[in-house]
Amino acid sequence: MVRTRVKQVDSDILIIGGGMAGTGAAWEAKYWCRGCRIVLAEKANINRSGAVAMGLSAINTYLGLKCKENTVEDYVKYVRGDLMGIVREDLVYDYARHVDSTVHLFDEWGLPIWPAPNGCYVREGKWQIMIHGESYKAIVAEAARKAIGDDNIMNRVMVTHLLKSPSNPNRVAGALGFNVNDGTIYVFKAKAIIMAAGGGSQIYRPRSQGEGLGRSWYPPWSSASSYGMMIESGAVMTMFEARFVVPRFKDGYGPVGAYQLMLKTRISNVNGQDFWKPHLEEIRKLYSGKGKYVDLPITPTTLRVYAQRLEWINGRGPSLMRTDETVKKGTDSEAIAFEDFLDMTISQVAIWAGQNHEPSERPYEVITTEPYVMGSHATECGAWASGPEDLSPRKIDGLPDDRGTQYYWGYNRMTTLDGLFCAGDACGANPHKFSSGSFTEGRLAAKSAVLYLMDHSDERIDIDKGQVDSMISKLVEPLERWEEGRYSVVTGPSTMHPVDPGKIYWKQGLFRLQKIMDEYAGGWSTMYTTNEWMLNRAIELLQFLKEDFINYAAARDWHELMRTWELWHRILTAEAVVRHMLFRKETRWPGYYVRADYPALDDENWHVFVNSRYDAKTGRWELWKVPVIHIIEFP
Ligand code: FAD
Repeated sequence: MVRTRVKQVDSDILIIGGGMAGTGAAWEAKYWCRGCRIVLAEKANINRSGAVAMGLSAINTYLGLKCKENTVEDYVKYVRGDLMGIVREDLVYDYARHVDSTVHLFDEWGLPIWPAPNGCYVREGKWQIMIHGESYKAIVAEAARKAIGDDNIMNRVMVTHLLKSPSNPNRVAGALGFNVNDGTIYVFKAKAIIMAAGGGSQIYRPRSQGEGLGRSWYPPWSSASSYGMMIESGAVMTMFEARFVVPRFKDGYGPVGAYQLMLKTRISNVNGQDFWKPHLEEIRKLYSGKGKYVDLPITPTTLRVYAQRLEWINGRGPSLMRTDETVKKGTDSEAIAFEDFLDMTISQVAIWAGQNHEPSERPYEVITTEPYVMGSHATECGAWASGPEDLSPRKIDGLPDDRGTQYYWGYNRMTTLDGLFCAGDACGANPHKFSSGSFTEGRLAAKSAVLYLMDHSDERIDIDKGQVDSMISKLVEPLERWEEGRYSVVTGPSTMHPVDPGKIYWKQGLFRLQKIMDEYAGGWSTMYTTNEWMLNRAIELLQFLKEDFINYAAARDWHELMRTWELWHRILTAEAVVRHMLFRKETRWPGYYVRADYPALDDENWHVFVNSRYDAKTGRWELWKVPVIHIIEFP
C-alpha cells in the first residue's frame, strides 16, 4: 500500500498553472477581490515555468494604440485572415483591446522593452515589439507572487483532475493534485477555477529522438493538462483539428521571427530560389476561399508553411534562412541574431557552437516542427468559452439554446462548466494571444471569475468525500501497481525495467502515442498528410492505448507519477485532435495538415467551428458544427 498524506486547501479562486495566463489571472483577481483567497497551483516553479521559462526576445502582441500604430479592428482582421476565416472575433477583439495595458504593466514592472525615439517601442513587425526578455517570466511571476502572497503559490504541485459538485454535475467545485517531490496529495476546494495549464507538446513524435529525446519547440513539459482535465470533465472543446506546425531553425527549434521580421532575412530553397512563387497559383486555386486568404497583405502562416513543404516534396528542400545575406559580423545584426536565441532558445546557440556554424557566412536549415496542440499562437485549440457581454452575439436564432453552440452565457471566458474559466492556451478559438495576450486573457478570466463569486456569494461549495477518496485511489493506482508488481513472481519485476510484462510505464506509453499520432494523424513522417482511413485507425489504436493505460499504467515514484498523468492528459487530447480531424471534411490549414481525401478548402460547408464533448462514463464523443459569426468587416 502506498502511504498517502492528504491536505485540503480551500480557496475562493484556484488557478491551475502559473505561466503567462496564470500569473495574469493571479494579479488581476487580487486587484478586484482583496479579501479573497486566491491559490495558484503550479507543476514547476512560477519563477521559471511554462513556455516563457527561458525568456523571450519579443512581445508578439502589442497594438500600439496610444501611438496610433494600429487599430483593434485591423488586428481582428489580421487574426481572422491568418486562421483562414475561423476565429471567435468577440474573444480576439476583447483581448486585443486590453493587451496594450498589459504590456505597459510589464514596462512598469521592469521588463526591458526597447524604447523608440518617438516614445513608443521598437517594432519587430507590425504587431510585435522587441524586448531584452531573458527574465520576462521572473518579472511577471514576481507581480503574481506579490499580489496573492507566496503562501498561496503552491509550486511543484501538479493538478491532475477536476472535482465536480455533488449536487450539480455541470459545476466544478475543486481539483485534485499532488506535490511532485514529496507526494503530498492536495484536495483543492474552490468557488471558481481558472484553467491556465498551457498547451500540449510531445503528443506527436518529435523530430529529435534518441540523443535529442524530448527536444521540441513548445516546451516538453507542456503536457496538455488544460485539455486533458477539461475534456475528462465534459467541458465543450473547440477547434482541436487546427493543431499547429511551425517552421523553426533545425534541431534547436530556434524561432524565426526576429530573423524574418527584424533583420528582413529571406527564406529560400536549397538553390537560393523563392519558395512561395512556384506554388502561388496552385495554392490560390485550392485555398483562396471567400476571404481570398492567399492575397492578404500578410500571407497566412499555414500557407507559408505549406509552400515551404511543397518545395521540400519537390526535392528542393530543406528551406534555408539566408543569414549569410543579413547577419554581418561585428554589427548590430549579429548582436540581434544571437540575443534572439540567448533570450529564448539557448539550445540553438549551443547547437551552432557545437557545429562550428557561423550565421554570417552560411545559411541555416529551417524545418517544420512536429504538430503542437495549443491555443495561444497561430492556432486555436482549447475550451469553448463565453465571450464578453458587450461584444458577443446573443442567443443566435435558429441555433439550440445550448452553451456548446451559443457565444454568450453571462461570464466572460467561462467554459461550458459552471465556475470553470480558461485563459491562454487553454482557451480556444481565439489565437495569436502569445505571451502578452495570454497574460491579458488571464486577467480577463480573473475579473470575470470575481464577478461570478460575487453573484454566487451565498452558494455553498461541497465536494463529495466518496468521490474524492475514489479519485485519490485512482491517482495513486500506478504507484500501487508498481509496489504490488515488485513482489509478484508472475508479472513482477523488474530487473529489466521498463521491460516489464503486465505494466506500462510513461515513456513506453508516450512513444506509443507519438507513433500513432505521427503515422496516422498527420505527423512529420507522413508529411502532415492523412485521410479518413488513417484517422479511423488512429482512433482504434488510441482505444487500445487508453485501455492499457487504465489497466496497466505503473510508476515507480512521484516523479514518474507526474509523467504518467501527463501521458493521460496527452492521450485524451490526442483523441480530441483525431476526432476533430476526422469530422472536418476539408483541408483549411494545409501547412498544418492535409486531408488527402478532401484536399481543398470548402467554405460552403466548413466555414464553421467544430466543437466536441466527451462523456467520460461512456467513452463517447459528440461533435458538431457552430456557425462563425463575424463582427468585423473583412478584409
Ligand atoms: P504557459 O505560459 O506555458 O503556462 C502554463 C503553465 O502551466 C506552466 O507554468 C506549466 O508548468 C503549468 N502546468 C502545466 N500542467 C500543469 C498541471 N497539470 N498542474 C499545474 N501546473 C501545470 N510569445 C510572444 O509573445 N513572443 C515570442 O517571441 C514568443 N516566442 C516563443 C518562443 C518559444 C520557444 C515558445 C515555447 C513560446 C513563445 N511564445 C512567444 C508564446 C508564449 O510563450 C505562449 O503563448 C504563452 O506562454 C502561453 O501562455 P499560457 O499561460 O497559456 O501557457
